Amino acid sequence: MSLQEFNMSIAGEWTGANSGKVFESLDPATASPWAQFPDADESDVNRAVEAADRVFKSSEWRSINATARGKLLRKLGDLVAQNIETLAQLESRDNGKLIRETRAQVNYLPEFFYYTAGLADKVEGETLPLDKTDMMAYTIREPLGVVAAIIPWNSPLYLTAIKLAPALAAGNTIVLKPSEHASATLIELVKLAELAGIPKGVVSVVTGFGPSTGAALSSHPLVRKVAFTGGAATAKHVIRSSAENFAKLSLELGGKSPQIVFEDADLDSALNGIVAGIFAASGQSCVAGSRLLIQRSVYNKFLDALVEKASKIKIGDPALDESEMGPMATAQQLAVVESFVEQAKKQGAKLRLGGERADLEKGWYYQPTIFECAANSDYLMQEEVFGPVAAVIPFDTEEEALAMANDSNYGLAAGVWTRDIARAHRVARDVHSGIIWVNTYRVVSAMASIGGYKHSGYGRESGIDSVLAYTERKTVWINLSSDPMSDPFVMR
Ligand code: NAD
Repeated sequence: MSLQEFNMSIAGEWTGANSGKVFESLDPATASPWAQFPDADESDVNRAVEAADRVFKSSEWRSINATARGKLLRKLGDLVAQNIETLAQLESRDNGKLIRETRAQVNYLPEFFYYTAGLADKVEGETLPLDKTDMMAYTIREPLGVVAAIIPWNSPLYLTAIKLAPALAAGNTIVLKPSEHASATLIELVKLAELAGIPKGVVSVVTGFGPSTGAALSSHPLVRKVAFTGGAATAKHVIRSSAENFAKLSLELGGKSPQIVFEDADLDSALNGIVAGIFAASGQSCVAGSRLLIQRSVYNKFLDALVEKASKIKIGDPALDESEMGPMATAQQLAVVESFVEQAKKQGAKLRLGGERADLEKGWYYQPTIFECAANSDYLMQEEVFGPVAAVIPFDTEEEALAMANDSNYGLAAGVWTRDIARAHRVARDVHSGIIWVNTYRVVSAMASIGGYKHSGYGRESGIDSVLAYTERKTVWINLSSDPMSDPFVMR
């Protein structure tokens, strides 16, 4: 079968790589190539960034004021809304995520554009209440320049929307670099941005590999901010690259998010929340609730019920509506999961479910897997798998649960299951993570920020201040005095 061919968009031109090189993307459900993309090298990245910089400085883009930029984003949201099924099918094909999941995600996607569009002309400066009577000062929020958005494979459209929308709302230009494993939908999104009337070169997309295309982009001297979502190890490269140019950074990284189940919880509801947390998207979610902390008094009962429920998950083709767990997105990710399972077994973790590839004819499927761990310091309790592997441990007291929850390098998300309202708020206050869900899990909203503590990264995306993260604050001083400047050698 012939491969679907995609081009990149650089400065508004649809093009291949300078070198003519391409790479193939594999369909996770079949492990066969289905599409081909340009393999951008440094020269292609230079073209894209230089064009983005030129457009940023152009009178055409500068003359489009914040209200007008908001309208462009609303139009883009409308176009996404008109293309939900196409985008959902494409993303599902590319990264193997269930169609029911990508459909729901794309269905909500326009809200990120609409919400952020509304913020565009509400970015205000301030008049400062100075302690100097002969001075006045005010601030101006200015766009940064060229933004580089580096995106992983697990939710490309969503993770791009929360960068693209605020970057454009603030008046920046942007170059997108999708994952080499899931580039297709970002290319489609750039086509929609063009249709929305966003001027050529404001949004470009370069496709290729991390160490070449990604590194060239994140270290480019004209890039003023890198908005990165991906793994912690990659983030360290990005930090080093950006250091060369003092580019600003936002880093949305991985997690080992705890789900804490107290004995007084609605256990049926908690069960669904735990399954959603670790087995939805086959565990390939940055907020996967991969550490289960269960109060000892309900430990056996709850774990047995979890094993029973997880054993009935329907693994299958992501394109089918009835499938509940699809494949791992890449062969490497499947190998990572297998290696974690082997290490957990070696360390003496007790396998309660799964622990093997799923028995399907083709594709990179893995069974829902549950391990009981002896200590929170166990490898499986500490390291992110990014797969359908739950590490479970009992606790006795709230204090102990909190200590374990916080004993982690990560701090992206957490879940707490309890009917005790005071306890819910105490745990929410005391857990070190950027998000905590109480009696629910994996909910997102355009109005709510996401981002992590510690090795889960820094900076926040989405929410009311998302646009500010793409601005620079300038302070303007006005001398109100008619007297001449006094002593030049004294700071005033
Ligand atoms: P990854 O870090 O391997 O890749 C992410 C992106 O970085 C890709 O586009 C890749 O090509 C690029 N890249 C790789 N090396 C690079 C380099 N040297 N310089 C610049 N760019 C480079 O991550 P992944 O495997 O695509 O995604 C999985 C990871 O992403 C997990 O750790 C997961 O937790 C994290 N993630 C976090 C969030 C969040 O919002 N916090 C969301 C989704 C995924």
